[in-house]
Amino acid sequence: MTLSGNPRETLPLVKCVARARIPTTTGPDIFLHLYANDRDNKEHLAIVFGEDIRSRTLFQQRRGETQQDRMVRGAYVGRLFPGRTLADTDENSGLTLEFDESTGTLKVDPKTTWTKQDTLVRIHSECYTGETAWSARCDCGEQFDHAGKLMGVDREGDIVGGAGRGVIVYLRQEGRGIGLGEKLKAYNLQDLGADTVQANLMLQHPADGRDFSLGRAILIDLGIENVRLLTNNPDKVSQVEYQPVLHCVERVPMVPLSWTNDQEGIHSTEIEGYLRTKVERMGHLLQKPLKLHSMTKPNNSTTITTHSIV
Ligand SMILES: [Zn+2]
Repeated sequence: MTLSGNPRETLPLVKCVARARIPTTTGPDIFLHLYANDRDNKEHLAIVFGEDIRSRTLFQQRRGETQQDRMVRGAYVGRLFPGRTLADTDENSGLTLEFDESTGTLKVDPKTTWTKQDTLVRIHSECYTGETAWSARCDCGEQFDHAGKLMGVDREGDIVGGAGRGVIVYLRQEGRGIGLGEKLKAYNLQDLGADTVQANLMLQHPADGRDFSLGRAILIDLGIENVRLLTNNPDKVSQVEYQPVLHCVERVPMVPLSWTNDQEGIHSTEIEGYLRTKVERMGHLLQKPLKLHSMTKPNNSTTITTHSIV
């Protein structure tokens, strides 16, 4: 089921089950968040750049829990070290989290918790073939790597990076939501001459069966309000919005590496056909950054002007 960005739509309930710091081979530490939800049994993830981007459900105080319980599930501030006893205070950095005494909810203090700023975000759907099996049929692995790289850097060419902050929401919806088995059948139809869209339709699937409502719910749980969305897909811009709490303030394009550099990126006849289909059949835009909202504050109130995106 594909849900629209209708503000009256009820979002899925999500709960962050655990968070852990992951040192990476290529850049800054990331914080991997694992989510449960009330729509499916899949383990959706948020790959978070920045220790201070905090899941509200993870940090919510729970009845009867100890500081050790909080550290084990990842609800701590600063950095863990051998012998640490307090989750809510990091003695090394001097940072302390505060909670509402009656509800146990995290108090959002800009000194300890990321809030309000524009945040680089990618909503990424799992692609086993492209991310793990070295597939040159699509550019998912390249886009995933590129998104992470942009979150770590201050700038790359014309694009302002995340400077160490950002969120990749990683949704377990393989093959535009049709599952890996059906995706493999679609690949065989493509080898028989169909394009990506035709192959899905021949298998009685929608051209795109993905549902981004979980992505919106996860971003809201992480306290993200203003999204700089990394995508070439104009539909994703509306799918990430949830007024009045979640706004897309900018679309940041992801130009395939092979288009700008002959030595880098994926070079195959399959990827050229795949990207052509994205542009010609699915309306993807491949162009420079596009500002979507202009924010002005007349009479002390905030007005958001939405411009047409196509
Ligand atoms: Zn892919």
